[in-house]
Amino acid sequence: MAAPDKFALLKRYFGYTSFRPGQAELIDAVLSGRDVLGVMPTGAGKSICYQIPALMLEGLTVVISPLISLMKDQVSGLREAGIPAACLNSSLSHAEYSETMGRVFSGELKILYLAPERLQKAGALNFAGSQPVPLVAVDEAHCVSQWGHDFRPSYLRIAEFIGGIKPRPLTAAFTATATPRVREDIKRLLSPESPGPASAEEGGREFFTITTGFDRANLYFEIQRPRDRESALLACLAARKGKSGIVYCATRKTVEDIHRLLLARGCAAARYHAGLEDGERRKNQEDFLYDRCTLMVATNAFGMGIDKSNVSFVIHYNMPKNIESYYQEAGRAGRDGEKADCILLYSPQDVRINTYLITNSAGEEEKRDERQIEHNLELLRQMTFYATSSDCLRGRFLSYFGEAAPHYCGNCSNCLTQYENVEVTLEARKILSCVYRLKERGRLLGKTMVINILRGSRDKKIRDTKLDTLSTWGIMADSGPHRIRLIIDYLIDRGYLQLQGAEYPVLSLSPRFREIISGQIPLTLKLPREPELPREPRPSGEPELSGTPQPSGEPKPSAGTAPAAGEWDEALFTRLKELRKDIAREAQVPAYIVFSDAALRDMCRKRPASPSRFLEVSGVGPAKLEKYGDAFIALIRAHPENGTTQHIELDGEGKGLP
Ligand code: ADP
Ligand code: ZN
Repeated sequence: MAAPDKFALLKRYFGYTSFRPGQAELIDAVLSGRDVLGVMPTGAGKSICYQIPALMLEGLTVVISPLISLMKDQVSGLREAGIPAACLNSSLSHAEYSETMGRVFSGELKILYLAPERLQKAGALNFAGSQPVPLVAVDEAHCVSQWGHDFRPSYLRIAEFIGGIKPRPLTAAFTATATPRVREDIKRLLSPESPGPASAEEGGREFFTITTGFDRANLYFEIQRPRDRESALLACLAARKGKSGIVYCATRKTVEDIHRLLLARGCAAARYHAGLEDGERRKNQEDFLYDRCTLMVATNAFGMGIDKSNVSFVIHYNMPKNIESYYQEAGRAGRDGEKADCILLYSPQDVRINTYLITNSAGEEEKRDERQIEHNLELLRQMTFYATSSDCLRGRFLSYFGEAAPHYCGNCSNCLTQYENVEVTLEARKILSCVYRLKERGRLLGKTMVINILRGSRDKKIRDTKLDTLSTWGIMADSGPHRIRLIIDYLIDRGYLQLQGAEYPVLSLSPRFREIISGQIPLTLKLPREPELPREPRPSGEPELSGTPQPSGEPKPSAGTAPAAGEWDEALFTRLKELRKDIAREAQVPAYIVFSDAALRDMCRKRPASPSRFLEVSGVGPAKLEKYGDAFIALIRAHPENGTTQHIELDGEGKGLP
């Protein structure tokens, strides 16, 4: 029988039937003996690009990965899928370390995760003599570059490590950071043939590079510039009750303040920053990963390597210092491909604080590097442009990452409040005639009253003064008050109307008004685009984003949690989540390691009633079928079709953020 090909392995171990963009190409390149660099956004599926070759190549694949939590997650995931994997890092006890080394030497492992710091230890290469090492994968490869945002000196040892193994293994590097400078650094600094600053010419093998699109269509981007950030945050959270989310703050102190605020409001939030003791940090992180707590308030120390796939929103309470960091942090939302929200609460204060931090942080350890400081200030400027821009936010990201960018994505706060030129001549005439008729009756009124008359209000004041008998009463009943007010302001601006009186300003006509009445001049005005145009219902029950400017006073869709009608059975989904939670608790792994939300959703859709049907679910391979198939199939069978009423909130599951 021929060896299984990459498609067979994708289904067998990961339960998927097709590759995502870039995956197959990178796998093929590795298998044909090339070094590769995959530049792909978070959630694109980088791991599979080295895990599948690892299964096909003889020997042990080594993966360098910067964070312990990430390794643990990856290893649990692989074990769940039936792939022998382990990790070596500083969190292991002596006994665990020896046990893992035993497994390495016995040749039973296919994938070994290594912390970069291990490369500094004597004997780091020992195991390489015992069996072939065909491939070294480097995760978060931008850590090798000091122009990235996460420089780790120990990454500089990787090239030497690779060069020290005979025969020289292939290198597969992965990053979500796409700036050309960082990309060049990665290729140069990870090549054993051209270590140091020399050019890549001298013998450095060429990397087969793939950059997949950075656009993540499932993410909604929003900028708010609230006067009161705390209230804005609370409103955002209230609209997302029960969903899993992260609130990033710039400093430890802000984390503490916000954490306290949330606890005082009865929100069970965990906190995370480098100032906490290891034990508490670990516990808080696990509470979040294991869904014991739906909300995490953290500095950027949290999250590198957090693989939690069902994070449904990321709110930045402060603006980060560059776009890469922002995109990476915000990108922790929606890794499962479900709709998710990324919200930045901007204040000009953030710019000042970041400027201070950038200009004062350097120089503690090394000598001050002016070039680096200038570079970082430039990155901060780009971030600030993003936060204050009125262009499409997605477009801004993509052009920053060097991709073709849309002018209009329809799924960001700028697009949703985009302005369009509207002809308002007729509406302007109606307003002016109303003021004219009022003058005939000897009345001068303020904006609000004029608007009420135009909209046909039966307010007592209007009835008492018989203003409802004016010929212009109710002639703009179909227009929103906000829109009429914008047009009035415009008419004042342009000198067709005047405001008189300081204490109670009233409207009066200015001599130019006849130009409009006689129709000589067409009037066009920039008005917010009507919101229903771009808004499609979000399948995963998108909450209405409080704080999104509501252009013309349209009623907000309610913060529903129900999926698009008929798509799947919410009650079944809830029960599947409960089952997953029980299994995860028993196995002591996070729930998403057992099955992603996307997999549960596919179960709701397909309702597999037999093992073979269960295998058709996306995310189910033979290993998971064997382990969990019976339990899930039994539950699905026992669950009545369209049984939406039976099991609602059995035990308060899903209430989350209380
Ligand atoms: P990255 O490291 O690029 O951030 P991961 O490797 O963690 O992303 O993958 C993100 C998610 O996408 C995981 O849940 C993974 O199982 C899923 N995934 C990866 N490849 C595929 C695929 N071909 N089809 C469906 N889901 C996939
Ligand atoms: Zn947009």
